[in-house]
Amino acid sequence: MTKLSNAAVRDVETVIHPYTNLDAFRATGPMIIERGEGIHVWDADGRKYIEGLAGLWCTSLGYNEPELIEAANEQLRQIPFTHVFGGKSHERAAELAEKLKAIAPHKASKVLFCGSGSEANDQQIKLVWYYNNALGRTKRKKIISRQRAYHGVTIASASLTGLLPNHRDFDLPLSFARHTDCPHYYRYAEPGETEDEFTTRLAANLEKLIIEEDPETVAAFIAEPVMGAGGVIIPPEGYFQKIQAVLDKYGIYFIADEVICGFARTGNMFGSQTFGMKPDSISVAKALSSAYVPIAAITVGEEMYQAMLDESKKIGTFGHGFTYTAHPVAAAVAVKTLEIYEKRNIVGHVRGVAPRFEQRIAKLGQHPLVGHTRARGLLGAIELVADKTDKRSFDAKIGVGAAVQKAAEKHGLIVRALGGDIIAFCPPLIVSEADIDDIFDRIERALDDTEGWIAREGLRTA
Ligand code: PLP
Repeated sequence: MTKLSNAAVRDVETVIHPYTNLDAFRATGPMIIERGEGIHVWDADGRKYIEGLAGLWCTSLGYNEPELIEAANEQLRQIPFTHVFGGKSHERAAELAEKLKAIAPHKASKVLFCGSGSEANDQQIKLVWYYNNALGRTKRKKIISRQRAYHGVTIASASLTGLLPNHRDFDLPLSFARHTDCPHYYRYAEPGETEDEFTTRLAANLEKLIIEEDPETVAAFIAEPVMGAGGVIIPPEGYFQKIQAVLDKYGIYFIADEVICGFARTGNMFGSQTFGMKPDSISVAKALSSAYVPIAAITVGEEMYQAMLDESKKIGTFGHGFTYTAHPVAAAVAVKTLEIYEKRNIVGHVRGVAPRFEQRIAKLGQHPLVGHTRARGLLGAIELVADKTDKRSFDAKIGVGAAVQKAAEKHGLIVRALGGDIIAFCPPLIVSEADIDDIFDRIERALDDTEGWIAREGLRTA
């Protein structure tokens, strides 16, 4: 076992790390990232990496964008904190809300800010209940999400998340949450089923679930345009149109969780536009501020807003809000981020380089370890398998995805291994075609290293 550095020991003895095997971590210690520039970061030993996951799918404009740093500094100098409770406000709040309303993929009336994607989805749940109570539809409490969805980790948003580690032994999900099928054709299509038949079956299953639950008890449906943490799952053509028809039939409120897909990631400003979704509301976070400071938000339509007016008239207040709702420094950075997206035509840039990204991911499909490849815009993944013909996965205990992640780090590339030996790619949106080639040259070497290890250790046997 390698001896941990002083900095590593200090971290191990003080910090609880999310999404980490806390026991194994005591031996390995952390990878401490010290600084960043453009699409690169450097660790505490001075090693340079391409950040192939944009941190956690969020540092869209890279690591030392001077305009964002200046926007934060300027706001800190002007007034570091003021709040929006009880009718107080500051100019950055309305400025950001206006910008969000202008680009939202639905007719947004108002914006409710918060600090994180989890909080955003938590707010969505609360507002949907508030709204239905205002309309006297007091039985409408259930919210349908999907297996393998990721909507956050607060008690309520984790209930909508459809991943076992987020539920197990946390006594979740709560009883309002339901989960319908995940649209991962590669894994869940029945033998011989076409994509069209698959999506028709999934929409029929959703309708069946709504009927079984009683449509009068179903308040909302929530979906990521592309499922991120659940495996970068890109829905087949026509999927959301069929889902939308079911939601419309039963008058079910549709929330698009744009926390990863929002702000150009899939080649349009929002994933909803890429996949033909017609949401009633969106949740945004992450790239809203290029992750320089925490800020998130949800949009609401006029009907929802009118219901909120009625409720707060009845109760005397809108009884919700965080100290840091619309934090001025975060709002100032977010305003600048949206300005940069517009003036540098980030959507156009993503559309320009995405074909190279999609082509290089597709090429990885030739590698003996890769069973499936998928990409849209600058979001993609490869799914590693023991056997390409029968799609057999490796035993999860071997940790083949984690091995590729480690090998990539040796080659100076940070990517993320998700459950199911899926390697996710989500580079900062500012990548050039040359950067994309660099990323995939490195991952090819990492896959070759891992393939060598698997062959040497005989890990492919069923
Ligand atoms: N929704 C989606 C689609 C996400 O990917 C995430 C985080 O990765 C969240 C919600 C939760 O966001 P946060 O980690 O900021 O609470």
